[in-house]
Amino acid sequence: MELLKRNKELLLFHIILNIAIVFFITGASYYHTPLEGGKDTLIYLVHLVILQTTIAGFVYFLTLQKWLFRIGFSALFLFFCSFSFFAYTQDLSVTSGLIQAVFETTPDIAIDLITWPYMLFLFFALVVLTFFIKWHNKLNNRQGVVIYSLLALSCIALFFITERKRLNTLKSRLPYNVFYGIEDYYSAPKFQLNKTLPIVTKQKDSLTVIFVLGETVRADHLGINGYERATTPFLLKEEIISYPSIFTPNTYTAASLPQLLTDKEIGVDKAMYTSIYTVANAAGFETTWIGNQTLEKSFGPIVETNDTILLVDKYKSEYSFNKALDGVMLPELDRVLGTAKNQFITLHMMGSHWYYENRYPDTFRKYTPVITSKYIPSLTTEEVINSYDNTILYLDYFLKEVIDRAKKNTTPTLVVYISDHGESLGENGQFLHASKAKEQTNPAMLFWMSDSFKTRYTATAISIDTAKNEALTTNIVFEYLQAIFTLK
Ligand SMILES: [Zn+2]
Repeated sequence: MELLKRNKELLLFHIILNIAIVFFITGASYYHTPLEGGKDTLIYLVHLVILQTTIAGFVYFLTLQKWLFRIGFSALFLFFCSFSFFAYTQDLSVTSGLIQAVFETTPDIAIDLITWPYMLFLFFALVVLTFFIKWHNKLNNRQGVVIYSLLALSCIALFFITERKRLNTLKSRLPYNVFYGIEDYYSAPKFQLNKTLPIVTKQKDSLTVIFVLGETVRADHLGINGYERATTPFLLKEEIISYPSIFTPNTYTAASLPQLLTDKEIGVDKAMYTSIYTVANAAGFETTWIGNQTLEKSFGPIVETNDTILLVDKYKSEYSFNKALDGVMLPELDRVLGTAKNQFITLHMMGSHWYYENRYPDTFRKYTPVITSKYIPSLTTEEVINSYDNTILYLDYFLKEVIDRAKKNTTPTLVVYISDHGESLGENGQFLHASKAKEQTNPAMLFWMSDSFKTRYTATAISIDTAKNEALTTNIVFEYLQAIFTLK
């Protein structure tokens, strides 16, 4: 009788512990799944039960020893909770991209992620954890250890059986996706830059290229691309060539920039890549990077192939509430523009990166009501779109300012604008970026040419204009720039 009673308590402990894990960790992967009717719900319930059963197997072994449970289990529980919070609140999925963001993010960004709801969530997790540690102390957990161990191993085996049947069924869910995200991050081929200057024809004529590298701007929210709102009143007055159908699978900065700024082609991995700045330097261009974003490990080494780097607000990232507006780069452009016969100047914008209200001055708040909180679940889609569209109005102004300066430049001048990726604004309940949603893979891309550029580089001007409506990938950026720099 006594044995049965103890076994009952042990079983109860494991059942309650696993329910807590569902609430704090695994449930987050299902929370946002859109379900219609009872059948859908039942399917996902079965799915969740299978997932949790496999977890229960691992958890059993962690409870076998006092300190293993106190330290090992506790650490893992809180570690996964720190991810599940964002899965619950923002439907964020853990991928190598997110792991990269976590590992390569500067401390100032990390500090900004720590909000009150986040702290509260972790506090509750800690309270629940304390309860289980106390309960665990009173348990005779060596009871039936052989039988239970075999049972636990079968549970763990269920993970591999399920994965073999349908790949990524469980791997893509919390907590497994954290492990696989880390594995993916480390298994990714290391980025090698080819530093030797390629042999190219030196540009004999004068030429200035201003390359505006945008951030988080989807093509379909530009008035110039037919968006219902007049978000680009200035650009509509200019002779702009827009590419509305550009595609990129790289929907976050750390993946997109290395591809945009080198000869890396989408879907093709090479041992070494050549930076566009290396090509420009070889062709006799003065290269200058003016940036309003902090440099990340992912694209920093490419930026460093510029002759000059000017970071305007380098100690504040996109998560800072006091981040400088992109307009602060214009005086820097004024200082640099026209100082050499052949110039390649990049302006790396903060653009329309979340949190949108930090990206434009009050005078551009045309669409209201706007977002008032960083906590997305408490916002309406209308507020999110209004704020986002206001950032596009500011982009329109910024590009006009750049074009005005290009017009005054005495050498043939080309302005190229491309955003690194798009953004989800509530489509299928998704917000922000770093997933494969259609609206994230179609960034805005624009060209402006001075009259002297059109006269001197007629063939290039025509080919840029001719291809504008084609469905192209962002590979075209490097192709165009390389062709322009090495033009005979
Ligand atoms: Zn980005």
